[in-house]
Amino acid sequence: VDDQLRVHGQERVFAIGDISDAERNMAGMAGFQADFLAANLKALVTGEGELGHYRINPPMIAVPLGPEGGAGQFPGVDGVVSAEMVASVKGRAMLVEMHTQNFDAPPKAA
Ligand SMILES: Cc1cc2nc3c(=O)[nH]c(=O)nc-3n(C[C@H](O)[C@H](O)[C@H](O)COP(=O)(O)OP(=O)(O)OC[C@H]3O[C@@H](n4cnc5c(N)ncnc54)[C@H](O)[C@@H]3O)c2cc1C
Repeated sequence: VDDQLRVHGQERVFAIGDISDAERNMAGMAGFQADFLAANLKALVTGEGELGHYRINPPMIAVPLGPEGGAGQFPGVDGVVSAEMVASVKGRAMLVEMHTQNFDAPPKAA
């Protein structure tokens, strides 16, 4: 794909996620690409606004070890990030809240 995630040689075919060669094959990157492409497609369809250019994300990984442990590397943070930071970003809820928002499916009240 090119830097607008357009399949080379195609005018209106785009690819995101593992099937594209935009960047590392990670769910998080696929999500960034989805947000980027949704905005670009909206601009393309409506003719309003400029199409953006996708920028590869800096290295990023969060490895939770249970709900309170883990380690990782985050952009803008020197060295290995703390277990507390990894737990707050991923380990405690495993991104469930983000996914329920994406699917507009809030968890049922207990
Ligand atoms: C063991 C493992 C651990 C991972 N851990 C992490 C992690 O911790 N963090 C992270 O960010 N990423 C992780 N990844 C990578 C992450 O899973 C992928 O980058 C992400 O799932 C890519 O999303 P996608 O939608 O592009 O592709 P996929 O999730 O592979 O989705 C493609 C879908 O298309 C379906 N499909 C395929 N062919 C057809 C067809 N012909 N017709 C209809 N449907 C079809 C498939 O069944 C699948 O459901 C991990 C991957 C693996 C294998």
